[in-house]
Amino acid sequence: MSATYRDAMRASLLYLLLSVVWLELSGHLLNSFFDSSDELLRWQLINGYVWVVLSAGLIFLARARLFRCLGIGAKLRERNEDRERLRQAAAVFDCTREGVLVTDRNGVIVHVNRAFMEITGYQCEEVLGQQPSLFKSGHHPASFYQTMFATLNRCGEWSGEIWNRRKNGGIYPQWQTIRLIHDDQGQLSHYVAVFSDISAIKDSEHELKYLAHHDPLTDLPNRLLFTDRAEQALASAQIQKRGCALLLIDLDHFKMINDSLGHTVGDQLLKAVAERLKAMFGPGITLARLGGDEFAVLAESCPQLVHAAALAQRIVDGLKEPFHIDGHRLFINASIGISLFPGDALSAEQLLRNADSALFKAKSAGRDGYAFYTEELTAHAQQRVETASELRRALEQQELRVYYQPVHDLKTRRLVGVEALVRWEHPHRGLVSPAEFIPIAERTGLIAEIDAWVMQQACRQMCHWQQAGVELSFVAVNVSSRLFARRELYQQVAQVLRDTGLDPAYLELEVTESAVMDDPEVALEQMHRLRELGVRLAIDDFGTGYSSLLRLKRLPVQKLKIDQGFVAGLPWDDDDAAIVRVIIALAQSMGMQVHAEGIEQVEQAGFLLEQGCDLGQGYWFGRPVPAGQLDWMHAPEIH
Ligand code: C2E
Ligand code: MG
Ligand code: MG
Repeated sequence: MSATYRDAMRASLLYLLLSVVWLELSGHLLNSFFDSSDELLRWQLINGYVWVVLSAGLIFLARARLFRCLGIGAKLRERNEDRERLRQAAAVFDCTREGVLVTDRNGVIVHVNRAFMEITGYQCEEVLGQQPSLFKSGHHPASFYQTMFATLNRCGEWSGEIWNRRKNGGIYPQWQTIRLIHDDQGQLSHYVAVFSDISAIKDSEHELKYLAHHDPLTDLPNRLLFTDRAEQALASAQIQKRGCALLLIDLDHFKMINDSLGHTVGDQLLKAVAERLKAMFGPGITLARLGGDEFAVLAESCPQLVHAAALAQRIVDGLKEPFHIDGHRLFINASIGISLFPGDALSAEQLLRNADSALFKAKSAGRDGYAFYTEELTAHAQQRVETASELRRALEQQELRVYYQPVHDLKTRRLVGVEALVRWEHPHRGLVSPAEFIPIAERTGLIAEIDAWVMQQACRQMCHWQQAGVELSFVAVNVSSRLFARRELYQQVAQVLRDTGLDPAYLELEVTESAVMDDPEVALEQMHRLRELGVRLAIDDFGTGYSSLLRLKRLPVQKLKIDQGFVAGLPWDDDDAAIVRVIIALAQSMGMQVHAEGIEQVEQAGFLLEQGCDLGQGYWFGRPVPAGQLDWMHAPEIH
């Protein structure tokens, strides 16, 4: 057919169509009655369109010398609609940006689209015939997939976020919809999964979340995140019965730097302060910038106020070193307000408010320092922190002294031993009791030096006494519970014995019951090692801890020292009397000596003697005194 002929026919067909198509549309289907070419046309209707096949031919009417054109239109119903739908579906399937995966009823992959390949990195032939478990990321527990299939089977559809693995091994989040497809008989025939890669959304979500919770200048948590973390920390501290401290730090006169050197220098200084603070803290401490020149610190474990005070002092001191910014050497001081949990408040918001008013106090007190929410705490803490730094000096300046308290044999009343007790001869405060400074020394780590020094002094003194012909069975020294479990203790004792030349049998180490029972296995090992050296071991303050009798029996200990708390009520307090009787019986049954301390009255000594207690110590026999003041001849009568 020539092009002209074809065009003419098309024009005629269109014309004809107008006249004939109505017949078809109204159901009068015309049969094809002559042969011609078919044309497929889309015919627009008011409410849509139809596809129509037109057949047309030309008839030459010889008589009239006319060509007549005859055409017939037939509306294509389902057959072509189906074909179209499939064609569209195929186009959608291929062009969509969503990955599509089709499996048969057994979960075998039968179809994937181009987007699937782009997202997962797999080629079509690599996945056909495989199971979708090929993409499992290991991110979800088995229960996740169980719930997914349960929903799918129940509702016919499941949608949700799922993490899968790409061919290159990387895992990524996808938003996925899975549907069940049924055949004409209603039997499950396929699963269709449509998904999109949402890692970009996730990344930006993450970024947004980060921005919402962090200070952009210093990268530290902001107020929102700080309060959130503080609430969580307080909740767990409450359960574990732990103390926490919230410190609010404000840089003194920061405005002056901003005003004189400009905001750029100010910003750089804030960044440098943040870096320096960050470097000061380890785990368990959250640092945040609340705004301007205000930082906050949350110490999740702060058993006592002295810990908070030490932390505050560390911050104040740490910021004192100059900052070098933009050619300037800048000095900055900080004021700190401290609020304690649970003493001052129970919520993060309230702690912040309290710390804020404490900060105000610190500022009004002249800045460059810290203050607690309550005045008494501030004074108390400051004194303790002062004591700690003074104690360091005391050791260097040799202000510590060893006093000796006599221990008597209750039967013979003779002085048989002494207990070495440390004292601090403070230049202004006079003689300071170890009850005040030993706990501080323990917390600051100075205790190791103190105990080593006392042991050295006591052993040396014992050697002098022996050389002077004084007959003593032992000199007792206290070993801090902080040091007892340490391996170095053994070396330290051995060293002191070597240095002083004292026969180990004359040295008695007193360890508190709680130190032993805190970790009985370690204690047992340590005690055996110490016993190998030949020293004596005593359990101090017995009755105040929670000894397991079974464990007690295994310990290589020669002596139990009854805590003075039980001796105080003797002989009239029935409970104390009963406890003391039991301890004596217990020690005797285990072949240990019993030693009662805190004896202040003759009646107490009498009762203890009657019950079979071996040794006695207390003001009634003699107070702790310097070595030269011990009264060797003193042997009071016990009635
Ligand atoms: P501790 O080892 O139980 O020592 C007995 C304490 O009771 C001593 O207190 C002593 O002075 C006191 N005391 C003795 N007799 C009586 C009495 O009749 N009545 C009363 N009320 N108290 C009496 P001090 O010397 O104040 O020592 C207190 C604690 O400090 C000691 O208790 C000991 O745990 C510790 N300590 C003392 N010196 C040292 C030391 O060098 N190193 C270590 N780690 N701790 C030491
Ligand atoms: Mg003692
Ligand atoms: Mg004691």
